[in-house]
Amino acid sequence: MHAAAFSTKAPPPRAGAGGRLRAVDFDTPMSDTAFDCVACGACCFSRNPRYLVLLPEDRGRDLPRDSLVIDGERRFVDFSCGHCVHLQLDLTAGQAICTVYDNRPEACRAFRAGSFECGKAIRANGILGEKVREVRVA
Ligand code: SF4
Repeated sequence: MHAAAFSTKAPPPRAGAGGRLRAVDFDTPMSDTAFDCVACGACCFSRNPRYLVLLPEDRGRDLPRDSLVIDGERRFVDFSCGHCVHLQLDLTAGQAICTVYDNRPEACRAFRAGSFECGKAIRANGILGEKVREVRVA
């Protein structure tokens, strides 16, 4: 997606922001399916610590400096723990919340629930990042 990450990143909508989504039954046509991004978060996981590159449009966004990886002129959101550092994961409650939703990067804003990239992220990372988490716990 964004450069490397721009096509696979997805922003979970803020909790209670509107229509509940269900990320399951992904093969169901979009018109028949609701996606619950807050109960999914698949697009916020990656094994690539530099998965999410910041774009020029992100310059004014209020993102903590210690949440970024800076390499010369390029800035990335830190994914070194296996998911975005801004992702608050509560497995007991089954929730994945973006803690910087109002300031989320451009790539996250461009992502659309139910898109090809959304399905790709779910297949690669699993709901609530279960596939990525399995690798990291092993
Ligand atoms: S900034 Fe928010 S929407 Fe974007 S990857 Fe991180 S947790 Fe997900």
